[in-house]
Amino acid sequence: MIGQQKMPCPACGNEIIFDTYMLMAGQAFSCGQCHASIGVATSSVPVVKDAMEKFEQIKAGGLKGENSSAGI
Ligand SMILES: [Zn+2]
Repeated sequence: MIGQQKMPCPACGNEIIFDTYMLMAGQAFSCGQCHASIGVATSSVPVVKDAMEKFEQIKAGGLKGENSSAGI
């Protein structure tokens, strides 16, 4: 799966596998061990989406020298 990522549960450290695209869509995921809920507030979804789009551009090699002196 393209969007699958892993992150440690903030509550118990258990590994949570989630889908970035589903997370952006407002889908919440829960820890299988402690059932803590991991999700993005719908109000911040556009922010996350924007960041992910930039990330995808960078991964695709779309970052073209323009900001090379500015640093990241
Ligand atoms: Zn947990």
